Amino acid sequence: MATCTHLDTITVTQLPAEVAGCEDCLREGGKWLHLRICLACGHVGCCDDSPSRHASMHAAGTDHPLIRSLEPGEQWVWCFADEVAMLVEGISGGTRIPPSPLLVG
Ligand SMILES: [Zn+2]
Ligand SMILES: [Zn+2]
Ligand SMILES: [Zn+2]
Repeated sequence: MATCTHLDTITVTQLPAEVAGCEDCLREGGKWLHLRICLACGHVGCCDDSPSRHASMHAAGTDHPLIRSLEPGEQWVWCFADEVAMLVEGISGGTRIPPSPLLVG
């Protein structure tokens, strides 16, 4: 089973109380489905089921492989480099997110 060797890249241990949406979609006028936060820098991007896949794009353009879901009730972390999902201890807080603009139209 694959293990992640990137846990030392995590600097975000407290999740923001609220985010406005995918930073890149908001800037470009795009629409996201699900939100993910980069655990190295706090960049908020959208999932791979979103049209622009900004979380993946961010990971590919940086050395920031770990994202955590910001969806209500979801606590999983995904490593793009190792392609492994896991739960990471020591990340606290919960984030209020707006509804997906794709789902509300
Ligand atoms: Zn990893
Ligand atoms: Zn996006
Ligand atoms: Zn980042």
